[in-house]
Amino acid sequence: MNIKFLGAAMSVTGSCHLITTDKYKILLDCGLFQGSSALEKLNRESFGFDPSEIDFMLLSHSHIDHSGRIPLLTKHGYTGKIYCTDATADLVEVMLKDSGYIQEKEAEWFNRKAERSGNPMIDPLYTSRDAEDSAKYLEPILYNQLFEINPDVHVRFKDAGHILGSSIIELWIKEGKSITKLVYSGDIGVKNKSLLRDPEIVTEADYLIMETTYGDRVHETNEESLEKFIDIILKTSRRGGTVVIPSFAVGRTQELIYELNMYYEHHEELKHELDNIMVYVDSPLATTATEIFQRNAQVFDEETRQFILKGDNPLDFKNLKFTRTVEESKQLNFDSSPKIIISASGMCEAGRIKHHLKHNLWNPNSSIVFVGYQAEGTLGRSIVNGDKDVSIFGEKIHINAEIYNLEGFSGHADKEGLLEWLSAFQKPPKRIFLVHGEEDSKKNFAAAVKHVLGYDCTMIEDVSEFYLNDDVILSVEDLNNRIASEEQLLKVRNKLAQIHEEMGNIFYNTHLAVDSGTTQKSVNEINNIILELEKYSILLGAAVSNLT
Ligand SMILES: [Zn+2]
Repeated sequence: MNIKFLGAAMSVTGSCHLITTDKYKILLDCGLFQGSSALEKLNRESFGFDPSEIDFMLLSHSHIDHSGRIPLLTKHGYTGKIYCTDATADLVEVMLKDSGYIQEKEAEWFNRKAERSGNPMIDPLYTSRDAEDSAKYLEPILYNQLFEINPDVHVRFKDAGHILGSSIIELWIKEGKSITKLVYSGDIGVKNKSLLRDPEIVTEADYLIMETTYGDRVHETNEESLEKFIDIILKTSRRGGTVVIPSFAVGRTQELIYELNMYYEHHEELKHELDNIMVYVDSPLATTATEIFQRNAQVFDEETRQFILKGDNPLDFKNLKFTRTVEESKQLNFDSSPKIIISASGMCEAGRIKHHLKHNLWNPNSSIVFVGYQAEGTLGRSIVNGDKDVSIFGEKIHINAEIYNLEGFSGHADKEGLLEWLSAFQKPPKRIFLVHGEEDSKKNFAAAVKHVLGYDCTMIEDVSEFYLNDDVILSVEDLNNRIASEEQLLKVRNKLAQIHEEMGNIFYNTHLAVDSGTTQKSVNEINNIILELEKYSILLGAAVSNLT
């Protein structure tokens, strides 16, 4: 078996790894290169393999740097299945369509310039129609299910806690009589993060492919960032300014809505003041994504599910408003009352956020709050870096607004989080490949792993290929036959008792909610709950009959 690293090798974007066994070609992720124009050029180059020869693909999560070249893959002959979790399938469909739309707009803009200067025109990288076509290959499977793709390949998705639906992929590959276990970390999230469950641990692997986005950084905590965030909101609104938040439409935006909602619930003393500050989510994609989050509530963390069971919607509160149309979006800039605007894109390169920056960057009363990674060469990076003048839509804007960068809201584990995750392995994998990080980050993390755990790491620095030997270390049978530990049994018993209680609550609350005054919307919500219950009762029934 061999593995070829085709992306997220020199940088953090363009994740794409190809595993070739004696019988199959398996692709892990197929992401877009993002950032500098040299990187973006790579998107138009060959994949480094023939898409029609790939047997199947495993997708770790919906972020475009992991999924964004899927429409190109299917356009160039790929016809296999794309396995991922349910929530990833829902999210990636809308994200790819949005990406296709952006590609079309960029090509239009490029061609208008090319026409004036007599340069050759280009086709969009792919269109939103191509993206729609590629979605039919998505094959959702459940978290933690040992899934047989074929008799030689088993796979299991564990929660990575990075974005809704994100996964760590475990892969058992049989060649001849031996089975090799490969683990792909995907992007690893942060513990105790709102909405999402903590990243799950993995204890065994022959070979590990691991991300290192923040392999050289330690963030402040989420709580520290939240306290600062509320303080910025209050200070800004008291002086009559607007808080503008450039945010990725999917993931970070929903986490922010949730954080604000929870804060409002638990801080009566500030409730009146905060209730008077409108929060606008100004991005059509964010609106759709929020609906998908609401549909996939079964994979939220415990705290959020308790909140839902109380009958509350964690992604909605009184002074929150979603704006869809361009007209509504423009109106926001004529409204002088204190407010918060959350808008995409996260790195300020495209979308409605540019209009809101143009109307607020000059204003000393306003604040701009960054909540995610800003890549080199983007407008977001130059604002964070403290540039005093920027150009937006060809107009020079002098920056007077207050600028903040809250790293505690990041969706990526920091150096300590990554080390903690790796330390759960009971013995060192035969080889640890470090990907998805800048050079310094990989170097720093490899040194920390050597120092703390005594393991050697292989840093992937360019497109490269490795032959893996095929010693038997773990097999699917070993895994299933091992006697469960006391701790595991206790966990399972507690979980069952909890489900029993939750079910009782759901039945009681939904029963109460149905009366003659019930709205159409409530009926839809209850029907969704019923559908989820039916889906799981069928799965549960099948699982239990397998056990007994
Ligand atoms: Zn990601």
